[in-house]
Amino acid sequence: MVWKKGSVIMEAKPYAHVICQKFIGNHCNFCMKGSEHLKKCGGCKSIRYCGLTCQKGDWKIHKTECEIMKRVPNLPTDSIRLYLRLIICHLVRPTFSFYSEIL
Ligand SMILES: [Zn+2]
Ligand SMILES: [Zn+2]
Repeated sequence: MVWKKGSVIMEAKPYAHVICQKFIGNHCNFCMKGSEHLKKCGGCKSIRYCGLTCQKGDWKIHKTECEIMKRVPNLPTDSIRLYLRLIICHLVRPTFSFYSEIL
């Protein structure tokens, strides 16, 4: 097999992710696709989704995050939100391993 520049050699879902503050208004918080027609989370009103499927898909993680984000006056920085998501992901799926997903 010959790999060329730009060839996909591996794909994996991230353990945790956040949308950068710069793109949070026009990218879905679950599938990360960009769109100008996203709906805000009714709880925290900070993040957006393509639709109900993505909102439901993210709810397991966002449920806890949403409660916390509702209590803070401003959107926390990307690093803080990622750290929070890492903790929530660890609590929700403590046995998840990136390597077990790809091997
Ligand atoms: Zn989506
Ligand atoms: Zn929310």
